Parts: sequence; C-alpha cells; structure tokens
Amino acid sequence: MSAGRDSAVGEQAPAEAAKAVKSGEKVRKAATRKKSAATAATGTSAAKKTTAAKTTAKTTAKTAAKRSVAAKKTAAEKTAAKKTAAAKAPAKTAAAKKTTAAKKAPSKAPAKAAPVKAAPAPAFKDESRTAMVRRARRMNRELAEVYPYAHPELDFRNSFELLCATVLSAQTTDLRVNQTTPALFAAYPTPEDMAAADPERLEELIRPTGFFRAKAKSLLGLSTALRDRFDGEVPGRLEDLVTLPGVGRKTANVVLGNAFGVPGITVDTHFGRLVRRFRWTEQQDPEKVEAEIAEIFPKSEWTMLSHRVVFHGRRVCHSRKPACGACPIAHDCPSYGEGELDPEKAKKLLKYEMGGQPGQRLRPPADYPGQPAPPLAGR
Ligand code: SF4
Repeated sequence: MSAGRDSAVGEQAPAEAAKAVKSGEKVRKAATRKKSAATAATGTSAAKKTTAAKTTAKTTAKTAAKRSVAAKKTAAEKTAAKKTAAAKAPAKTAAAKKTTAAKKAPSKAPAKAAPVKAAPAPAFKDESRTAMVRRARRMNRELAEVYPYAHPELDFRNSFELLCATVLSAQTTDLRVNQTTPALFAAYPTPEDMAAADPERLEELIRPTGFFRAKAKSLLGLSTALRDRFDGEVPGRLEDLVTLPGVGRKTANVVLGNAFGVPGITVDTHFGRLVRRFRWTEQQDPEKVEAEIAEIFPKSEWTMLSHRVVFHGRRVCHSRKPACGACPIAHDCPSYGEGELDPEKAKKLLKYEMGGQPGQRLRPPADYPGQPAPPLAGR
C-alpha cells in the first residue's frame, strides 16, 4: 500500500486538495500573523508594564525620598523646637526663681545682712589735709585691732643686743638675724667682750646676715665707742646714738622706742612704702617721711604705729604683690587695686601668722598668736 492512500487527503480530488492546501496555508499564515501580532502586543504590553513599573518605582522612590526628607525635616524641626523649649525653660525657671527670690528678699535681707565695710573710694585726689589726717588716724586704729600683738621682730634681751641686732638687720630679714645672734651674744655678751673680739671670728659668726665684713667693722666700732665713751652702756638719747659707727636715725629710733620707751618713728623700707601707698606723705627721703608722719600722729603713738605699719607691710601689703583682696584696711587705702584683688588668691599671699607660717622671732612675746621661728639649720 502507497503512502498517499493511507492518508485522508490522498482520498480527495487534486484541485480541491490544492485549494485546501492553499486555504490551510492562508489560515496558518493568518494564525502566524495573529500570533506575531499578539506576541508583539504582549511584548509592548510587557515593555509598557516594565516602563510603568520603572516609573512607578522611580516615583515611589522619589516619594519615599521626599517623605524621608519630610520626615527628617519634621524630626529636625521637632528637635529644634524641643531645644528651643528647653533653652527657654531654664531662663523661665531662673526668671521665676529670681522673681521668687526678689519677692522673698525684702523680708530677710535687712535682718540678716552681714556688716559690709564701704567699698574703696575710687580716688583720694581732692582729699583735704584734715580728711587725710582723720583717715590716717582711723587706719592706725584699725591696724591696732588687726595687730594687737605688734612688736619689734628682732630677738633681744637688753639695749646692747637690740643695738647690734638692728645694725645686722640691714639688707636681710629679721628672721636671719634672729637665727644668727644667739651664737654671737653667747660669744660676746657685753660691749667690752665684743670690742676685744677677733675680727675674723666675728665676721664668721655674722656671715649669714650678708655684708658681714662691713657689719663686723660697725659692731667692733660701736662696741669700742660704748666701752670708751659711754662706760660700756648704750646711751638713751638720739643725738648720742647717731654718733656710734653704723648707727643712723632708723637704728637709733628702734633702740629708743623699744629699749628705752622713748617714742620714735622707724622709717624702714616697709614703713616708707606703705605710708606712700596710704598717701600720708609723698616724701622719699626717710628723714622727711619721719617728719611728716610725726605731724599726723601724737607722739605717744609713734613707736606702736611703726610696728603696726611694718607688720602690715610684711604680712599683707607686700612690695611687689600686695594682697589687696585680703586687706583689712582696703576701704581706707587709696592704693587698693595695686595688688591681687581675688580674695582666694590674695589670701595665699599672706605671710607669717596671717598666712599660717612661723613668725620671725625665735623667742616671740607671750601674746604672739603664731608659731616661733625655727633656729638656723646646723647651729
Ligand atoms: S594691701 Fe592693697 S589695699 Fe591694703 S594697704 Fe596695701 S595697697 Fe592698700
């Protein structure tokens, strides 16, 4: 059997078969075209969908971004708002407190207010002579209250020791003199003993006080003069004292005031500096300073005034950095502000018993409130 007969087509007439074939091809082509069109349509649609999706995504992203920005802005605005509120709050609270305090104050302040001394006057330029004298005497009284124990800061047991110690105190501290004189007076207790001293031995004993050759010469000279002209006694008159080698008005006044009870003003470096700061005088020469200060105060005050002023100069009103912020007489001082004004820093500048340190005397008077000075190391 042939292959054509076996098929159903093979059983039709040839023309019809050809038509059928053509018709089948047309159908197939049409179907193919439709498919293509459909596929194309599908592709376009997909592409459109993709584009749309992309657009949507972009839009979403943009929107999300916008939202995010907006959210951030909102958060930032909120934070800023909170901060502003927080910043305003303490101010309000403080203001409220102040108001409350101000309301409360009048009932408490007058009863409990501590006595405050007048603030330092800005200038004393046009102060009259009378006003200055009153102020100076007031300052002296206040210094007497601050330093009721004021005393000469040289250790001595008699007028001869005080005279020698005062000569040695030039260009050094009273502390150094006090640490040096015990050995000196143990070796030469009287003017006769010292007048007969070996110069080199004397120099060695007083070496710690500085300028020991010149000072040894003065001690030998004044001891010899006391032995030869004053019967071995220290004279009690200024005019006699100043004739002794190495003895000027300052030394003479120290001896007169503290060993003889004769009032005297001692113008040393501290005294001169302070009375000029106080504007009690403008003089630089010690003798002129002494004369002008003597005009302001009664004679009975001269010796103790000298001690008080020197005490204040050594403890509070230092040459380079006065402790103005811790000064008990600042309200009357025209030079307030020359030194440290901060109270805590000023307190640290205080010396000796006021600063909690040992004094200058190894044997201070019974009423001295501080600690005695220690002896010189190695002696
Ligand atoms: S410490 Fe200052 S305020 Fe006090 S006396 Fe000296 S300069 Fe005047």
